Amino acid sequence: MKVKCSKCGNILTIAENKLPKNKKKAMVKCNKCKHSIVFIIPNAKEPEGEKTELENDTTPKIQNAKLVEIKTGKEHILKTGKNIIGRKADISIDGDRYISRLHCLIEMKKQTWGIELTISDDGSQTDKPSTNGTFYKDKRISKFDMIVLKSDDKIKVGRTELIVKFY
Ligand SMILES: [Zn+2]
Repeated sequence: MKVKCSKCGNILTIAENKLPKNKKKAMVKCNKCKHSIVFIIPNAKEPEGEKTELENDTTPKIQNAKLVEIKTGKEHILKTGKNIIGRKADISIDGDRYISRLHCLIEMKKQTWGIELTISDDGSQTDKPSTNGTFYKDKRISKFDMIVLKSDDKIKVGRTELIVKFY
């Protein structure tokens, strides 16, 4: 910080780390006229503990997720709760005859730390699996699986590849 001598107008530069802690005022001697300058320390620091807590609170939480079709770039926003993916479903994917009308299920739950996303091959909500399968990392999953999805995970529904994106 800079301090101006009230007697001769000389400007003194004072390193912030040399300022006394927990004080509102300090004194410095002018290096030209030797006048003792009393000045106010700007923004006297808050106790350290409180500041750290505030910083933690501002950490952004992931609240949303979407699926992006790799081939077309088409985006599908996922909602909280059950999202059925299929040709004629909550999330409809066109142009792939290997996708069942109700193909697979992605469930989104909001947690205190963000969102939780799971996928299973349970689009029809019956005992029948999808005809052509749902794949996670190139492995076919069953309706009994509850695979936890992370951002940038790749899934395949029928023959359509999708990327999971948290945002
Ligand atoms: Zn001076």
